[in-house]
Amino acid sequence: MNALLLRPARVWTAGFGAAREGLAVLVRGNRIARLDRADAIADDARIVDLPGTTLLPGLMDLHSHLFLHPYNITSWDDQVLKESEALRTVRAVKHAKDTLDAGFTLLRDLGTEGAGYADAALKRAIDSGIVPGPRLIVTTRAIVASGGYAPMRKNYRPDCCLHAGAEEASGIDECVRAVRHQAAHGADWIKLYADYRVGPNGETVPTFSLEELKAIVETARDLGRPVAAHTMNDEAMRRCIEAGVATIEHGYCGTRETFQRMAGKGIGFLPTLTVAEAISEYFQGYTRGGQPTPRMEEAANAFRLAREEGVTIGCGSDVGPFPHGESFRELEWMVKLGMRPQEALEAATSVAAKIIRRDDLGHIREGALADLVAVDGKPDEDIGAVARVRFVMKDGAVIKGGA
Ligand SMILES: [Zn+2]
Repeated sequence: MNALLLRPARVWTAGFGAAREGLAVLVRGNRIARLDRADAIADDARIVDLPGTTLLPGLMDLHSHLFLHPYNITSWDDQVLKESEALRTVRAVKHAKDTLDAGFTLLRDLGTEGAGYADAALKRAIDSGIVPGPRLIVTTRAIVASGGYAPMRKNYRPDCCLHAGAEEASGIDECVRAVRHQAAHGADWIKLYADYRVGPNGETVPTFSLEELKAIVETARDLGRPVAAHTMNDEAMRRCIEAGVATIEHGYCGTRETFQRMAGKGIGFLPTLTVAEAISEYFQGYTRGGQPTPRMEEAANAFRLAREEGVTIGCGSDVGPFPHGESFRELEWMVKLGMRPQEALEAATSVAAKIIRRDDLGHIREGALADLVAVDGKPDEDIGAVARVRFVMKDGAVIKGGA
């Protein structure tokens, strides 16, 4: 079996404190066969020296959109209404490669935003070795309440036939049917939008009733699919928590009591701090390092409350509205807003693995799948190092570096 001995300057295993020097990792096939002192491993494996680097478990971003590209180049409406699914899929292939090259070996991709079930096809192409990309957890079209998502009809001629950004459903029957359809088309998780800017003055209001949310979660549970819920509004968040979703996305306006309930039920939180920054830069005149916009402050406040209440926080950036390959910015934000660098690394490795219920990923330990990343410097002390990726391995195969 193909064997490689990786010799970085330091190894950070996730969940066991600081990085340690003098360790080496032996990879056999697609698994980590051994983690030990470099001089203790005698093997005829090919040696890959990675001087000056820290070896980490492959990074994960649990909130991405491979089928979107930055809104300062093309607006969401124009991407969904004017770009063909074929064009968007070709872009997604490129985005998948950029992501993997940046050390992110797994994405939970939360909706194609109008590109149908193309994410399930892309996942198949990656898993078959046709194109390079991270491991994908896909959700296909995502589920929204009727009239409760973009493109917003009031912005177009009423007789205009608009292509939907997600699958619409109203009532228990349609909610159940949408879950079953999406699961049948390859959704690994079910993504729903529990609120949207459809209040009379554009306020964000709940779009699904509690009964509809319960129908979605129960049907998904029967089919073995956890549910990820987009919520900004506190009432919508509470309904999702009561309905039994597995993760809450954004949660910008969640109150302390709501985060307490989340912690009590073990629901994961993906704070999507970077997309708040990106949207603020594009549309609200924010410049990096300047005064945060109200949206950024809401996101930061939710993150703070979630931390104080002991909610499980994973790395989920909402990449797509900002360039693929820049998911590391979410780790930088988490540290800027109070996490220690090691905690932020855990959010993207061991904690992310827990949220997606995969104990064979997210750690460097014997028997785990060999998804590994080496970055220049000491990311467990200076999080900015995660942007300097020198080596990437996915499923035992060298993707980048290692010559
Ligand atoms: Zn999103």
